[in-house]
Amino acid sequence: LRIVRHHAELRELGHEVGFIPTMGALHEGHLSLIRQSASERLVTVVSIFVNPLQFGPQEDFVRYPRDEARDADLAAQAGADVLFVPDASWLTEGILTTIHVGKIGDRFEGEFRPGHFDGVATIVCKLFNLIGSCRAYFGLKDLQQCAIIQAMVRDLNMPIELRFLPTIREVDGLAMSSRNIYLTSEERDVAPNLHRILTDCAVEMANRPVKSCLEHAAQTLKALGLEVDYLACVDRNTFADCTVLSAKSALIAAVRLGAVRLIDNLLIEM
Ligand code: AMP
Repeated sequence: LRIVRHHAELRELGHEVGFIPTMGALHEGHLSLIRQSASERLVTVVSIFVNPLQFGPQEDFVRYPRDEARDADLAAQAGADVLFVPDASWLTEGILTTIHVGKIGDRFEGEFRPGHFDGVATIVCKLFNLIGSCRAYFGLKDLQQCAIIQAMVRDLNMPIELRFLPTIREVDGLAMSSRNIYLTSEERDVAPNLHRILTDCAVEMANRPVKSCLEHAAQTLKALGLEVDYLACVDRNTFADCTVLSAKSALIAAVRLGAVRLIDNLLIEM
């Protein structure tokens, strides 16, 4: 594994590059993306950058878990060739130009985290420019992020081939996330209910109107102590509400559990 701290050293990557942008604190979700790129025999580049542009002022930028040595070991074992770790803030400090993602970015995560998706899109665009034409891998865990990156690549004609891979879960169903370490042991026991209730809701929606299933699921979440920021059924590409299920529908949710915010989603199989 070659550790690269400055983009000048990225020049000799060649053409067949697989790129996995991350904020570090790697877990099986990230590693599944790295393994997929490596299995496609691409020069596999993993970036680690805790992007200040995508954190709100009250969010966890300062305490976000950082452990480069551990991440380097895990990335190497999963088949990464290059770890791109831009030093601190030279990527974002003083920039005048940013990406505005438009209406997909204003709803759901975008409503609860104003500016978040513009921050994500801006840094992903910059990383794409530094890496060059590549195949880039993203996790469906962050479904709205996938839709936004897909729209950005299409709208701005970026020479990037996108791959979206399934959410990796703990055995009890909790979607893996670098932030799960913030959960207390009591919260950790409650957290898998989010996936369970989304799964139940998807089953129910085959027989009952979408709206009433969502209401029922929201009540169940609340009764378990999960405060619902949003729970919705949307088109997975446009994030417009779905009142009737189609093969493009997805259930999306964000809940708060103590100080931790969990997001998850389920693609509807039809
Ligand atoms: P992050 O480090 O949180 O910015 O995530 C980096 C990439 O890993 C993003 O494309 C995420 O969607 C993806 N990812 C995070 N958690 C998971 C998971 N549990 N399963 C699959 N992909 C994930």
